[in-house]
Amino acid sequence: MLIVMHHSATEEQIQAVEKAVEAMGLQASPIPGSLRTAIGVLGNQGYVDDSAIRELPGVRECIHVSKPYKLVSRDFHPESTVVEVGGVRIGDGCPPVIMAGPCSIESEEQMLASAKVVKAAGGHILRGGAFKPRTGPHSFQGLGVPGLKHLRLAGDEVGLPVVTEVMRIEQLDDVCRYADILQIGARNMQNFDLLKEVGKLDHPVLLKRGMSATLEEFLAAAEYIVAEGNNRVVLCERGIRTFEKATRNTLDLSVVPLIRKMSHLPIIVDPSHATGVRALVPVMGKAALVAGAHGLMIEVHPEPEKALCDGAQSLTGEGFAELMQEFAGLLKYLGY
Ligand code: PEP
Ligand code: MN
Repeated sequence: MLIVMHHSATEEQIQAVEKAVEAMGLQASPIPGSLRTAIGVLGNQGYVDDSAIRELPGVRECIHVSKPYKLVSRDFHPESTVVEVGGVRIGDGCPPVIMAGPCSIESEEQMLASAKVVKAAGGHILRGGAFKPRTGPHSFQGLGVPGLKHLRLAGDEVGLPVVTEVMRIEQLDDVCRYADILQIGARNMQNFDLLKEVGKLDHPVLLKRGMSATLEEFLAAAEYIVAEGNNRVVLCERGIRTFEKATRNTLDLSVVPLIRKMSHLPIIVDPSHATGVRALVPVMGKAALVAGAHGLMIEVHPEPEKALCDGAQSLTGEGFAELMQEFAGLLKYLGY
């Protein structure tokens, strides 16, 4: 960290800042300039909490040189991490993994029908939400634990591992009992207590990017999980909030190659929530694979017009099967 002092800062103020840095167990190295003095902070292992410094008299700003994440960075861990989920491998060197299924688990029949469609088309992991983070309290909130049972049953019936969202620490026992990989949704990307708790578990985690999160915040959120000992983290770009209203979110595909460079963790893309438009899902899914995504998450519903959530962005069973055919051609071209 670099502490920049005001040009009017007094010698006493500079010394007080140096003392505060030393009180944190770090070294302060003043760099006098013609206009103002800067103080370099040395000896830190990672991100420095500047709260004890930035309000001191004479301090203009604190510039963070080191990042708020380290364990998830490639600098620290050059080898790519491959995350295994119920026998399916996600990451560098593996063919892209397709997670698919309905937004919400609605009934045993709906989940079984979805599972059959996903399996028959060649999907690798079955999705379905039992705890739903809905914008309004009057919308369908999910079936809860009975839904988890339907998901597990459907996955076992067709032989696919399952992914589902967990919103609260109190749900972890149930979700871990029934799911192969825990999804943390966009709205909970910075639920730090939840991140720390899943960091203590053995289950792999699918961490979705917050709707207004910067890349740095996204990786810092993943750092919370890895810092607790769980390095089985898969990142998921699902679009960010911008001024554009023609799509539900704006798919930020540049983060795929950026994350592949900056982090050793796998990164997948969810073109369904990113666009909110069924017709855009196939083309943006393909674009994500070309950009280097290690997998995709796609919403599929046997009867999208009757879906209790996100029907407008859900592919039909036939649409998904067709898309999987198109992926096969593309993947051959990409060398898989
Ligand atoms: C979901 O995948 O069901 C979901 C709610 O997605 P997101 O958290 O990306 O909005
Ligand atoms: Mn959805």
